[in-house]
Amino acid sequence: MTWASHILVGASVAKIFGLNYILTTLGAILPDLIEMFPKRMTHRGISHSVAISLVALVLLWKTPLRDAWIGVVLGHLLPDALTMTGVPILDEKSRRLTLFGGKLRTASPGEFVVTGIIAFIAFFILGSFSVDAERRNWAELQHKSLIDKREYYENRFRFW
Ligand SMILES: [Zn+2]
Repeated sequence: MTWASHILVGASVAKIFGLNYILTTLGAILPDLIEMFPKRMTHRGISHSVAISLVALVLLWKTPLRDAWIGVVLGHLLPDALTMTGVPILDEKSRRLTLFGGKLRTASPGEFVVTGIIAFIAFFILGSFSVDAERRNWAELQHKSLIDKREYYENRFRFW
C-alpha cells in the first residue's frame, strides 16, 4: 500500500483504540522506512515479517513503544496483507500471507476505497458514538494528574 494509506489507517487505529497518534502513524510507515536504508533489503521481506512484528509487539506491550508496534501490525502489515504481494510469515523466503485473497493492487482505486472506508468508520461512525468512553476516561484521569502515567498505560486497554 501507499504511504498515504498507511498513515490514514494508522491514524484510524489510533482513533479507534485511543492510542498516541504520532507513535501509531509512525509505526504504520516503519516497515517501509526500514527498507529504505540497507540498499540490498528486499521489498516486503524481513521488514514486513509478521512473526517478528508480533514478537516485538508482545515484548513492547508494557512500554510506551507499544502504540508504535500496534501501528506496525494493524496500520502496515494488515493493510499490506490485503494486496497481492502480501506479507511474509518470517522472511522473504517464507510463505506469504494475504487476507481476503489479496485482491488489492497498490495505489489502485480499490486501495483508496478500502482505506477511505476504514477512516470513515474510525472518525465519523465510531467517533460520534461513545464506544471508547471508558478509554477516554483513563486518558482524562491521567491528564488531570489523578492517576500516573504507569496506571494509565496499564488500564487504557481494559475494555471490560
Ligand atoms: Zn509495506
